[in-house]
Amino acid sequence: MTIPAIAPAAPDTGVPWPPGLVPYVTRWSAEHELPSAVVPARGGGGIAFADEQLHDRDRHGVLWVRRQVHQGGGSPLFSKVHSVRQRYAMRRLRCQACRQPADRNEQGLLWLLEDGRADRPDWPEGELTAHPPVCRGGCVEKVTEQCPHLRDNWVTVRVREPLLDGIFGRLYLPGRPLPVPATGVTRLYDAPDVRWVLASQLVATLADCTIESAWAQRPSPTTGTRPGPAPSRTGVRHARRRRSR
Ligand SMILES: [Zn+2]
Repeated sequence: MTIPAIAPAAPDTGVPWPPGLVPYVTRWSAEHELPSAVVPARGGGGIAFADEQLHDRDRHGVLWVRRQVHQGGGSPLFSKVHSVRQRYAMRRLRCQACRQPADRNEQGLLWLLEDGRADRPDWPEGELTAHPPVCRGGCVEKVTEQCPHLRDNWVTVRVREPLLDGIFGRLYLPGRPLPVPATGVTRLYDAPDVRWVLASQLVATLADCTIESAWAQRPSPTTGTRPGPAPSRTGVRHARRRRSR
């Protein structure tokens, strides 16, 4: 994630990582993806697991990656997100760093983003993000201090209406005899090929947004090297919702 870059100096001394130093959604090295054979779905409309269970799909019918849950096992992988914890934090609107309820006031929930104000005048309205919100318990400060991508380029935003309407995951292409894994994609649930994606992160569209504070008084022009406001933190190809609201 999201904070991949919260890479505090690793206590490479055999001492376990102190609780609270590693963001809640960060994946640990002992949390492996469970091997699951991906096969064509019946009828050809996407992918399925050969031994699929009911809980492998969300309520939109999208297949989710299977991954071990062993928080604290091995070493934290700061550039990786754990699909189960990310999804939990997003659905329950919990802080991505500490799992406590995200901060909320009359203007909405608190989100921490890379500064994208130079991208378009109405940014971040309609922005897609895989970063769950944050709390006010010191996590904004902790993340902005420790994440190189955010350190001098962050904005806090109040979001009155976060819509959990998409996923990030691995797109599969039709193939014989089995579907072929392709690239990581972000898709809204109404995308025609969403059932060809093996989801690993829940994505929110940010609506009714109010910028609360920012590191920079004025946004600096983007370099054009990043596809969206927050992608470099998570590896997620954040896309921007094009449709008007
Ligand atoms: Zn927090």
